[in-house]
Amino acid sequence: MMQYFEWYLPNNGLFWDRCVVQADKLLENGINMLWLPPAYKGATGKDSVGYDVYDTYDLGEFDQRGSVATKYGTRDAYLNAVQTLQNKGIEVLVDIVLNHMTGADELEEVVAVENNPENREEDISEPEKRTVWTKYTFPGRAGKYSDFTWNYTHFNGTDWDEEHQQFGIFLFDGKAWNSETDSEFANFDYLMGTDLDMENPETVEAVTNWGKWYLDTVRPNGFRIDAVKHIRFEFYRDWLKVLREHYGYDFFAVGEYWSSEIDKLTHYLDVVEDSMSLFDVPLHFSFQDCSYSNGAYDMRQLLENTLVKLKPENAVTFVDNHDTQPGQSLFSFIPTWFKPIAYALILLRSQGLPCVFYGDYYGIPNDNIPPVPTLKKLIYLRKKYAYGEQEDYFDDDSVVGFVRRGDDEHENSGMAVLMTNAECGSKIMNIGQKFAGRQFYNVIDLTNAPVTIDEEGNGEFFVDGGSVSVWVNENVYRDICLNIE
Ligand code: CA
Repeated sequence: MMQYFEWYLPNNGLFWDRCVVQADKLLENGINMLWLPPAYKGATGKDSVGYDVYDTYDLGEFDQRGSVATKYGTRDAYLNAVQTLQNKGIEVLVDIVLNHMTGADELEEVVAVENNPENREEDISEPEKRTVWTKYTFPGRAGKYSDFTWNYTHFNGTDWDEEHQQFGIFLFDGKAWNSETDSEFANFDYLMGTDLDMENPETVEAVTNWGKWYLDTVRPNGFRIDAVKHIRFEFYRDWLKVLREHYGYDFFAVGEYWSSEIDKLTHYLDVVEDSMSLFDVPLHFSFQDCSYSNGAYDMRQLLENTLVKLKPENAVTFVDNHDTQPGQSLFSFIPTWFKPIAYALILLRSQGLPCVFYGDYYGIPNDNIPPVPTLKKLIYLRKKYAYGEQEDYFDDDSVVGFVRRGDDEHENSGMAVLMTNAECGSKIMNIGQKFAGRQFYNVIDLTNAPVTIDEEGNGEFFVDGGSVSVWVNENVYRDICLNIE
């Protein structure tokens, strides 16, 4: 799977067409699922990455927020891209943002209390009249697809009082923040914009109707769900059930619960009854801790307290994303030298569904960040050769590894992987007796001498400092050399 966008893509409206153009290459390389960015009109129009949701029914079709097309293109180009990708054999995950909306069309007068941003249960003002942007009428769309319009009763709060020109967290009179949500700041229901009140049946009905329309219109293979920790936990359990029934297909869904605390993720999965997967955020932070430790991090801990270790069936593993890249809200970018290690770990092991970041695959021109070297090799290795029984050798504080012993269905499959965040080292690992007498080559550094497997199936593999080595037999080595630039 690949997250097929980064924050700073050009605003030229050609992105959906680019997806079509790249499809064959991606498939050939081993990408069989793309997560596409939010496709509906944001408050900042064609400059919007898609998370400042304005009108979820406007997929680049109506002259709203300053443009017809979104940053990525028109509705027609979007529908064409989804269909073309699917026809070629690539599944499409669409990005669902239902926590908040912004860019309302009209002001309304409400009574609201201001909350302490650090403790959302604490009022720091009396109920006062405030003027807020909460009325969404979508004049540019004029009722096409849905005549539903939004007003303040569908939300429970916002962060801008127009009349007093004041920022703050304003909770509307008669409302409470939804619960259960993430417990940071006492209740982290509120994130930004106008916050959808998922305890109001009209709001739930509106987003349910929209979800059905979206499925029927776009026909995606699944959802990537934004900001789940800010939405009443039980909402998606119920919503996904209704939509899956409507669609007649138990589609895949993965949620973004941004927390390094594994207990919060497993608790959320319990509440939603495992109806979705989650991104393995704790693993991302393990990568970060490890890569910034100057070699002090104990490599045996790398997978401890991660989702992929504790609930692998629900784990979507990743290294970076559009929020962690430089300049973005959750900036925690994994350094270049560590990226091949992290990608080898998520791509070549059997647990978890790995998600490759567009910015790592193509680079991020905005920040002069080049593509991650070896990433294409690792994806290709996953597709063709990372099969069979896995045995871990997480038995040393700096050099750890694992083997995949290969299986009969995938010719030449099997590999030994060794990694370190510190100095070079070696380790004896058993790749299986069927490889006795064979020579294994490191496809990451083609200059390394081969390792001969002894009659028990053991080899003493080695790895350079601060890197990963992936040892494969001569046929795989040749395949990689011939087919991956
Ligand atoms: Ca919320």
